[in-house]
Amino acid sequence: MRWCKKCLEPDTRPDCIFDDEGVCFPCKVSENVGEIDWQARRQELEKIARWAKSNRNRQRSCYDVIIPVSGGKDSHRQSLYAREELGLRPLLVTLAYPPEQQTKLGADNLANLIGLGFDCFYISPAPEVWRRMVKFAFMEYGNWCVATELALHSAAPKVGILYDIPLIIYGENYALTWGGDSSIGLDGDANRMKYSHTLKGGDVEPFLQRECSDDLLYWHRYPADDLIKRSELRMIFLGYYLRDFNDLTNGKLAIQRGLQQRTGEDAILEDIGQTRTDDALDDDFVIINQMVKYFKFGFGKASEQLSLMVRLGAISRDKALVLSRRLDGKCAPRYIKRFCNYIGITEEEFWVVADSYRNPEIWERCDDQWILKEQPR
Ligand SMILES: [Zn+2]
Repeated sequence: MRWCKKCLEPDTRPDCIFDDEGVCFPCKVSENVGEIDWQARRQELEKIARWAKSNRNRQRSCYDVIIPVSGGKDSHRQSLYAREELGLRPLLVTLAYPPEQQTKLGADNLANLIGLGFDCFYISPAPEVWRRMVKFAFMEYGNWCVATELALHSAAPKVGILYDIPLIIYGENYALTWGGDSSIGLDGDANRMKYSHTLKGGDVEPFLQRECSDDLLYWHRYPADDLIKRSELRMIFLGYYLRDFNDLTNGKLAIQRGLQQRTGEDAILEDIGQTRTDDALDDDFVIINQMVKYFKFGFGKASEQLSLMVRLGAISRDKALVLSRRLDGKCAPRYIKRFCNYIGITEEEFWVVADSYRNPEIWERCDDQWILKEQPR
């Protein structure tokens, strides 16, 4: 493995790009931030907002924009920015995790956001279908999120088309923030997101073969391209237009408006494999996903968060290295136990699946323990 000279990004991320000096793509993006004409981008954003408002007369609803929300820090920033800075009338759309998965903190934070004066469209897919899909995706791909990403991304455009709402505002363009998948484009246009590596055109076929009939997957099925085109639905990434749209600023602003962070044992960094207590607040199973990602690619959530902080100048690369070695890939046994109970497998079965995703090129077995052949350096 090799790591970016400026941050901790490794070259094992699928489709990552490094330049001749060994600097990763997100670092190059961040180096060029000062040269971007932010005034022009702001004007472009205002023009889009004016276009959305001008559609009010033809609409079946009174909303200008949909904000897909989980209730976390980015959701707060997007919703408040759309209403208070752009003067839009937002409808929040949330796709709820089943009760076994959603944390109380997540529910409280969503309630806080709605309580700031928003209407919210709440979709709760049938828990049993959800559970079967999560189990299948974990066993088949070592990545249970494959099951839920489809519904999480499809819900907002579906509601947009149903209620004739012209615009959807997403948060960051993850191709710019994290690198890897540039198939979604490197600008503010989010209409290509359906063809990201994650959504693969919105294909639900793998799940149809596993006891999930077509009629059970309505909310998981991404709207067809011609339907999106006919409805003139426009989707954008707010992060492209705002210089300070990042974890630091979004977290700070959201906390000022009532967002609660992780507390108690759920805030122990060694247990959650993260460096922040204001991230991924609505779900603890994602910590498991980050751990298996660490097995596959040799990097976890902590080093991703740290790389971002290095780019923002909030921490030195040396300090980040120490923290990433301490926290990357960590996941407390209680989260794994809860996940196993949820999908109905034993912990032994869990580890057979999880360990099968360890990349033998980067891991070796020593004295009954798995160790990385190389540590970030
Ligand atoms: Zn970098």
